[in-house]
Amino acid sequence: MAQTLKTDLLIAGGGLAGGLIALALRARRPDVTLTIVEAGEALGGNHIWSFFDSDIAETERGLIAPLICHHWDGNEVRFPGHARSLHGAYNSIESGRFNQVVRAALPAEAIVTGRIKALDAQSATLSDGTRIEAGGVIDARGVGDFAMLELGWQKFLGQLLRLEAPHGLTRPVIMDAAVDQGDGYRFVYLLPFGPNAVFVEDTYYSTTSDLDADELRDRIARYAAEQGWTIATIEREEQAALPIAMGGNFDALWPVRDRVPRVGMAAGLFQPMTGYSLPDAVRTAALIADLPDLSSRALQHALRPYARKAWEQRGFYRLLARMLFRAADPPARYRLLERFYRLDEGLIGRFYAGRSTWTDKARILIGKPPVPLRRALGAIREDR
Ligand SMILES: Cc1cc2nc3c(=O)[nH]c(=O)nc-3n(C[C@H](O)[C@H](O)[C@H](O)COP(=O)(O)OP(=O)(O)OC[C@H]3O[C@@H](n4cnc5c(N)ncnc54)[C@H](O)[C@@H]3O)c2cc1C
Repeated sequence: MAQTLKTDLLIAGGGLAGGLIALALRARRPDVTLTIVEAGEALGGNHIWSFFDSDIAETERGLIAPLICHHWDGNEVRFPGHARSLHGAYNSIESGRFNQVVRAALPAEAIVTGRIKALDAQSATLSDGTRIEAGGVIDARGVGDFAMLELGWQKFLGQLLRLEAPHGLTRPVIMDAAVDQGDGYRFVYLLPFGPNAVFVEDTYYSTTSDLDADELRDRIARYAAEQGWTIATIEREEQAALPIAMGGNFDALWPVRDRVPRVGMAAGLFQPMTGYSLPDAVRTAALIADLPDLSSRALQHALRPYARKAWEQRGFYRLLARMLFRAADPPARYRLLERFYRLDEGLIGRFYAGRSTWTDKARILIGKPPVPLRRALGAIREDR
């Protein structure tokens, strides 16, 4: 007979957002019994998540510190017209470490492997019939139905290459855009994990979500050859199409009648222009761990207005995304980022953290756009 379990807090989805909430609660509210339900074998799936030091508030560093596998004191970018070294410190988390740290923080029975078939504000039913009842439920199941949003895609395939000889890189290359441009802004992203190990990701912004993995594997092999690198082995691979939000209505994404509190991508908590959600996931986990009441009602009361406000404050990034996709033809789209990367470092840091000030926004937009003015203005006007 199918069993029924009871818990204080049920976290549906053991990915980035769900796992961070579990860690934050274990640290600050060890009295709360929680259960994470994850469909996959490993918490966090197969990801390398990266972020700048400036994405995370000082008070929230402790939460993320045990997860960091690689840290660098700076980074660089390369464009056809200029290259630049930046001071922004950068970090990467490998999902293997994430799985290990979250599991070590929780009692074994707090992690249930299974697929949720039905979820409401008080319970989950899994596909094997198990029912879990909870005082509070959080939907952390990641990207859901985003059909109501106006989207473009950031598509990539990354491989961790072990090379025959040292590559000579000392810091990440966030964008090497001095490469052939395809059907949208394209760049290669490089993370030096060791003297002979480099994670190479071929990335491009595209209007469709389909990804030709073999084509991207070929591009990585060609890029490595152009650098003079000989590949000994390919140690891991990941791929994704991240949603880039150009427009859309928050109430359609998370209707008022949907009473299940949400976090992470499911709540629209991501930087619309990069598709990255780690800074938001850290902030949300800290916010939840500070809530006195973890019932679904109280969580909904805190989380929906929080996510709505973040969505509304990010109209500027959706506007930039529209410009990136629409204000120029694909081969010229890199110019927007090339120009952006001539601005000051503090502004660049606040952009990635999703915390641009009014002055930053003005400085990003002011001046002759590096793309045709009429098309730039057309793209600006289209928000809905
Ligand atoms: C390959 C890749 C690399 C990325 N790199 C970065 C990065 O460097 N920096 C950054 O900030 N962002 C990055 N992102 C974007 C974003 O931050 C991640 O997608 C992040 O993992 C989203 O967190 P989440 O918790 O909302 O969703 P997820 O991490 O996707 O977690 C959702 C979890 O819910 C589980 N689930 C879904 N449905 C069910 C169900 N019915 N029953 C049970 N479990 C279920 C899934 O298996 C999954 O583990 C990356 C995304 C990808 C795909």
